[in-house]
Amino acid sequence: MLRRPMPGLIERYRQYLPFAEGDPVVSLEEGGTPLVPAPRLSARVGAEVFLKLEGANPTGSFKDRGMTTAVSAALREGAEAVICASTGNTAASLAAYAARAGIQGVVLVPEGKIALGKLAQALIYGAKVVSINGNFDAGLRLVRAIADEHPISLVNSVNEFRIEGQKTASFELLEQMDGAIDALCIPVGNAGNITAYWRGFSERGVHPRMRGFQAAGAAPLVSGKPVENPETVASAIRIGNPARWEQAMEAMTASGGAVNAVTDEQILDAYRFLAREEGVFCEPASAASVAGLLAFGAGGAERIACVLTGNGLKDPDTALSQVDGVIACDAELEAIVSAVL
Ligand SMILES: *Cc1c(COP(=O)(O)O)cnc(C)c1O
Repeated sequence: MLRRPMPGLIERYRQYLPFAEGDPVVSLEEGGTPLVPAPRLSARVGAEVFLKLEGANPTGSFKDRGMTTAVSAALREGAEAVICASTGNTAASLAAYAARAGIQGVVLVPEGKIALGKLAQALIYGAKVVSINGNFDAGLRLVRAIADEHPISLVNSVNEFRIEGQKTASFELLEQMDGAIDALCIPVGNAGNITAYWRGFSERGVHPRMRGFQAAGAAPLVSGKPVENPETVASAIRIGNPARWEQAMEAMTASGGAVNAVTDEQILDAYRFLAREEGVFCEPASAASVAGLLAFGAGGAERIACVLTGNGLKDPDTALSQVDGVIACDAELEAIVSAVL
């Protein structure tokens, strides 16, 4: 069979990843996501801004970058099951890669707080989905304890292979921007992704300012202390006690960046702006990067990349809450013309 040369991340970047030739590779041909210019956003902030569309990954979020590596490594170690706690996207991604690997996926999600699309994905891929009456942070404590005691591999971003896989996004950005990037704007939840980007940039000797943005109701890195009951419309970053706290702070400090909070209102404004003005539909958590850029400005940077971490279709409920809705009309020419023109 003739095949397009579009390998997944492990094959593309093997020399920079902890995988040898012949190791099992579980891939859905993740990565290679578009970087699109954002002319209207650029005009608003007075800098050249690009959007890294991580929602174009196989399960619709950047989590696939870390899941190809984490599940491949789990398979290499002989794992028969993988587990994670998740606000949704890690669950969807784990479920897909576990299915691909032919092993059992198990996910813990916070009851009632997971976006509809993510839940549908985790279930249809065949994972065991357990809903707990606690938040993400409680879920992470539980899965850590389970993985310590049982032959099941933990693939939350405390797993080093996740960070290794996710750092490939920096490699791609540098290729797509020809190495010229002054600042990166990125939403921060459990802080694995910003840690991974910084690692990727550092390995290439490039040091853009790392600007992390948290939701105001879930901003432990901004306040300097864990948040007991994190709340935000951006469910993917609804995390009160990030696992990669120190590393994220190190990345921002070392790069001359910062961590800031954006309100849900600012997040939703950016979310609608991206859809209507740039034609890019991301999920609310992703819009935190652009909300932060709009709120705090370019800060002298000339070329900026905003990471849009997940696809807007993940969370149809939030999208529908932000629009006027459909126009009901009789199936008659005149009625339709007068309704829309
Ligand atoms: C996981 C996730 C984040 C947060 O990434 P962390 O590595 O937890 O900081 C942001 N946006 C989306 C859509 C996510 O799925």
